[in-house]
Amino acid sequence: MKIVLHITMLFFATVLSAQSFVITNVTLFDGETVTENTSVLIEDGEITKISEEISTTATIIDGTGKFLMPAMTNGHVHAWSPQSLKEAAQAGVLNVLDMHGIETMQGMMKQLSDSTNYARYFVAGAAATVPGGHGTQYGFPTPTLTKTEEATKFVEDRLKAGANYLKIIVEPWKETLSHETVKALIDAAHEKQSVAVVHISKADDAKKVMANGADGLVHLWWDTLLTSSELNEWKKNSNAFIMPTLLTSKLFLENIRPTAPKESMLSDEDLLLQVKNVYEAGIPLLAGTDPPNAGINYGTDLYKELDLLSKAGIPNLEVLKTATSLPPKHFKLGTFGMIREGYKADLLLLGKNPILDIQNIASIETIWKEGKVVAQTK
Ligand SMILES: [Zn+2]
Repeated sequence: MKIVLHITMLFFATVLSAQSFVITNVTLFDGETVTENTSVLIEDGEITKISEEISTTATIIDGTGKFLMPAMTNGHVHAWSPQSLKEAAQAGVLNVLDMHGIETMQGMMKQLSDSTNYARYFVAGAAATVPGGHGTQYGFPTPTLTKTEEATKFVEDRLKAGANYLKIIVEPWKETLSHETVKALIDAAHEKQSVAVVHISKADDAKKVMANGADGLVHLWWDTLLTSSELNEWKKNSNAFIMPTLLTSKLFLENIRPTAPKESMLSDEDLLLQVKNVYEAGIPLLAGTDPPNAGINYGTDLYKELDLLSKAGIPNLEVLKTATSLPPKHFKLGTFGMIREGYKADLLLLGKNPILDIQNIASIETIWKEGKVVAQTK
């Protein structure tokens, strides 16, 4: 008996020490700011100390010449299988936010959230839409609503099914919810301390849902440019974010432009310009790519979104925030997305600095989820 006990204790000791390590002399982007030559201590899956000098018996990983940043979040996906969550994790994307799907399947996939090799899975459940509206065309049963009075029950049903936030669809190319019902849904979500985000495609709808208290938009509008004074006005009354899904918009518009009337659609250049205007108005930007739409993958295609945000003229440090600290903060996900004491040790160690060139995001050498290695190339 005694021997068994000793072996068990040894085993636990090994597991625990494997989770404790210190990354030294590294350039740290903590989700908000950059510190040169610092060290980060990780114990039991959490960040426990950040300091120039750390005295510890934990394993040392020399970070000299390397760049440490929080693992990323993709704020807009539709994940249909565990493989999608694996693909995300392998690219350093450790949280994905599903924006519309089958609730029973989402419930099953959520159980993978604690596994090291899978991205954590947060869901909207089924998005709010009308019968025959956008979101009902994918061949799976989708609950719908038409009237303002149905809003509270709709939101309660989503939360009961395990939704982490509410997604609402306003898509006038088909039948769609009235702005009155959208407002009732947003209010019902807020009543339950839940975040409510909205799919829009037109600037006019964007303005209306923002005025009605939405917490964020999960696409940029495609039809017209809003002026800086309109955006400034908007910022004055709201802390809501915009997730422009530039890669999706670009690929989608490339497809439909040949047959659509020119005046109803922004050019690629104008999309980037509008995102820059949004940034300059002080409206928070979040990164999301909407896979598998337009053939986009769940992992490395998020780097392309960051590249587009950089091309739009947003400083690279701010671009990194869109995929690290900002999504967990705006969706109230918990202690993710930052390298601060008490946060989960979801970390990316890179060979090159992405603030110097955003494409260096592809130089990830090690990915840790809660202090455990997900992938390592060096
Ligand atoms: Zn979507």
